[in-house]
Amino acid sequence: MSFKSVVNDNSCSWLNNLQPRTNYKTLNQNQKCDYLIIGAGYTGLSAARKLSEINPKKKIIVVDAQLAGEGSSSRNSGYLVDTTLNDGFTSNKDINNYKTKVKIYNLGITAVKSFIKQHQVDCDWNECGKYFASSVINDISTAKKFSELLSTLNFNNKILNHEDLENRLGTSFYKIAVFTEGGILINPAKLVRAMIDILPKNIELYENSPLIKWNKNNNLINCQFEKNLIQTNKIIFCTNGFLKSLNIKKNFNFPLTLTASMTRPLDDEEFESIGKPKEWGVLPIRPMGATIRFTKDRRLLIRNTAEMKNPNSMSKYELEKRKLLHLKGLIKRFPNLKSNLIEDSWSGIVSRSRNSSQIFEMIEKNIYVAGCYNGSGIGVGTLFGEQIAIMASNQQSNEIEIINKRVKPNWLPPSPILNLGVQTRLFFERLRAKSEI
Ligand SMILES: Cc1cc2nc3c(=O)[nH]c(=O)nc-3n(C[C@H](O)[C@H](O)[C@H](O)COP(=O)(O)OP(=O)(O)OC[C@H]3O[C@@H](n4cnc5c(N)ncnc54)[C@H](O)[C@@H]3O)c2cc1C
Repeated sequence: MSFKSVVNDNSCSWLNNLQPRTNYKTLNQNQKCDYLIIGAGYTGLSAARKLSEINPKKKIIVVDAQLAGEGSSSRNSGYLVDTTLNDGFTSNKDINNYKTKVKIYNLGITAVKSFIKQHQVDCDWNECGKYFASSVINDISTAKKFSELLSTLNFNNKILNHEDLENRLGTSFYKIAVFTEGGILINPAKLVRAMIDILPKNIELYENSPLIKWNKNNNLINCQFEKNLIQTNKIIFCTNGFLKSLNIKKNFNFPLTLTASMTRPLDDEEFESIGKPKEWGVLPIRPMGATIRFTKDRRLLIRNTAEMKNPNSMSKYELEKRKLLHLKGLIKRFPNLKSNLIEDSWSGIVSRSRNSSQIFEMIEKNIYVAGCYNGSGIGVGTLFGEQIAIMASNQQSNEIEIINKRVKPNWLPPSPILNLGVQTRLFFERLRAKSEI
């Protein structure tokens, strides 16, 4: 097992708009603990919070390879989803799986809601719903099918046409959409920063300290970091896109690198030219199409690439190439905006499984893992973090029962067959979504 340091390129607008943190510690001595959590995103921080509540007297350590929360948990598009399309639901035969999936999403929303209520967190929460949209009128059949499914499951939704969409979004690009009322938009970095800020006193957090390798010897788990060692009784892996690089469930998940860009705030003239819309969020009907958001401070956020890359870093040169694709996607939708639109561009890592299912289990006695959210981990990561802590404390909950009813991730072949398969699928999906990028 090997792992290189994760590089934080300081290029993500969500993060750049927060106060930088100063009070962080790196691991600089050997330690022993009762519980060790690897990864400090939504999952790891939620696990830590819950563990400390259940086990106030135990020694709990959280370690991250970079600054806590500055991985995908700060780099995502901020859709707290109640429902998803293109997500393993292919026919009515799968409706029970889909029901469990949306139950899990909704438990995730509840987990985030109670966190922000309890700690009075401001993360720009907006229950404004979301649009699954397409610029191709023929996608009306997919839209109708999805709308029927949502109605069967009692999710309020509406099919919108070209004119409705132009009025609501300020672009004439989209021809058809399903609007679902239950989606929530948030500022993802503010949420994860709050999870760091309120960490209970009995949690020790070490940052910029990558786990290099680990093994289990009798009942103890030995974890080798760059300079020091931690010995722990129990360990929880919360590294999501980096599970595979730590050899965790390596035949059930793989990393994908996504890139996104955020514009400067639109000026008054530009804002007026697009009809002064309220905040909105669009997800693509076709997989691999663009996710695009208009924020309450009048910025546009676009994510329109997903690829199999070395998850540890994307070079500036590569990122510049993705930025051109983001710009193309923005200009296509908003041709009248002035130049110098994009302020920041960044990449982030997600974990995928073949059938879009998540990982939540004890893989061996005292070794736990939660992750693989297939690009929808804000709510589910918060939920899974809390619930894996309950499981690691030998307790049960209704939530765990529901989570365990989900379809488990399918087996994946090893590389190079896996790489070839994923790349071929991405290639065809990209081709199908060419107009939507
Ligand atoms: C561009 C983009 C857009 C997205 N949009 C959305 C969205 O709109 N809605 C949504 O719900 N989800 C979205 N996601 C997915 C979402 O961000 C993730 O599912 C979520 O962040 C997972 O949280 P996590 O805590 O499990 O993992 P992460 O936030 O990835 O945290 C894992 C942590 O583990 C650390 N780590 C890794 N390896 C090691 C090691 N060896 N040693 C120590 N620490 C290690 C990393 O440094 C990282 O901080 C998006 C992701 C990206 C990249």
